[in-house]
Amino acid sequence: MLIEKLCNNHDLSDGEFRTLLETDVYDDALRTAADAVRREHYGTEVYLRGLIEFTNYCRNDCLYCGIRRSNTAASRYRLTEEDILACCEEGYALGYRTFVLQGGEDAYFTDERVCRIVSAIRERYPACAVTLSIGERPRASYQAFYDAGAERYLLRHETADPQLYSRLHPAELHLENRIRCLYDLKEIGYQVGAGMMVGCPYQTTEHLIRDLRFLQELQPDMIGIGPFLPHKDTPFRDAEKGDLYLVLRLLGVLRLMFPEVLLPATTALGTIHPLGREMGLKMGANVIMPNLSPVSVRKKYMLYDDKICTGEESAQCVNCLANRVNSAGYQVVSSRGDALRCRKAEK
Ligand code: SAH
Repeated sequence: MLIEKLCNNHDLSDGEFRTLLETDVYDDALRTAADAVRREHYGTEVYLRGLIEFTNYCRNDCLYCGIRRSNTAASRYRLTEEDILACCEEGYALGYRTFVLQGGEDAYFTDERVCRIVSAIRERYPACAVTLSIGERPRASYQAFYDAGAERYLLRHETADPQLYSRLHPAELHLENRIRCLYDLKEIGYQVGAGMMVGCPYQTTEHLIRDLRFLQELQPDMIGIGPFLPHKDTPFRDAEKGDLYLVLRLLGVLRLMFPEVLLPATTALGTIHPLGREMGLKMGANVIMPNLSPVSVRKKYMLYDDKICTGEESAQCVNCLANRVNSAGYQVVSSRGDALRCRKAEK
């Protein structure tokens, strides 16, 4: 009943969301419905985003994050433009048509440097999309990156509740500014990705419902969610992990609320359970973001403990992932994998 209603209306009351999120009794029905909706819109296709973690320097001090500035145990690195282009070359040969440049908020990467890198990638690989995920910047910077050829931006809102936001972040960071960034990015014309961490300290079902309401307002093209996982050198070292099943349930709910949204099965989901990403795909997820960073730096981009795909064996991530995707009943495709909204606009 609840699932049918969510399927038809793409919405529920707060009370109904609460019921759905706080029990496992609807999970099977949710999985069946979410998978049917993803097949209706996307078939069995899974889109790849090659993730290049190009710097772990960060001026921010988010309490949950392993690369926060007060973590003096973190060994810091920056990739050069040549390193980044080498990652793209390797990724292109492997079939990637989207490169995601993600990093800490690193002042070394001025607007000018970021623009140079974006233009260089677009020039060499005109068939590829460039996504940035480098945190909060002034609107003018976002505009400059867009003009240089970046078409997508990932900036999770983390939580849409201002009180919870301030318990997870240092005093100088404000939810208001994060949201301002997301709307700026949208207005400029980016395909935008938002999302929240699930199961972070102090989070309740009410907070998650607030996230769903915020996402209804923002209408992002992508929604990235994953479980909170503690990092040993952060103030949340002793906090509980997020709950795998709650993340999966939310993926199903998001697929039904936003039938056409791009929904990654995230690395954190693969870290909390060896088959987490496969379970995510079966719950409506349709994007995977394999790590394309040089193996030599992967262990240094440690946002949380035990992150997967950081060992010597990890250069072969694509093959491993293609097999995993097949085993779940889907296929990876070599395309830009734009949001359906944008593909329709182009026609
Ligand atoms: N500096 C960029 C990129 C952040 S890293 C930015 O501000 O957007 C990408 C995402 O990793 C974050 O948005 C956060 O949701 C997630 N993350 C960070 N620490 C985490 C942790 N301990 N557990 C789970 N996810 C985490």
